[in-house]
Amino acid sequence: MGMLNLVLTNVTHKPATRLYPFEIRAPFKEFKGRIAFAPENCILCGLCQKKCPPDAITVTKADKTWEINLFRCIMCTECVAGCPKNCLSVSNERVKTGAKETVKVLVPVVDKPKADKAAPSKAASSK
Ligand code: SF4
Ligand code: SF4
Repeated sequence: MGMLNLVLTNVTHKPATRLYPFEIRAPFKEFKGRIAFAPENCILCGLCQKKCPPDAITVTKADKTWEINLFRCIMCTECVAGCPKNCLSVSNERVKTGAKETVKVLVPVVDKPKADKAAPSKAASSK
């Protein structure tokens, strides 16, 4: 009778598990999934590479590339805190099953014009 109860319970209830990988639970908001890189403001200074404990980041100034090894990254977020241009952030999107080990991004470094030297102000010149 006990066995019959168990079978009937399992037949009439929803499964306790998900049908992964067809059904994937949405990540929690605070979940540290992967490091996201926005290359627009990157100046290829290499600080993120220097701060990364497991050497997961490689910045190559000559090739204008920024590269991360997703399998080495331990999500310590040292690179995020150390980037002077706020190019790095923590995404709650997890690394997909079967993803490539490394992600290489071409950085569109734009030479910004140097600030003009202190030009005389209109107010000062009109007096
Ligand atoms: S991501 Fe930030 S710290 Fe890394 S090279 Fe670019 S500007 Fe520098
Ligand atoms: S989160 Fe930590 S381990 Fe991952 S790339 Fe940044 S510094 Fe390296």
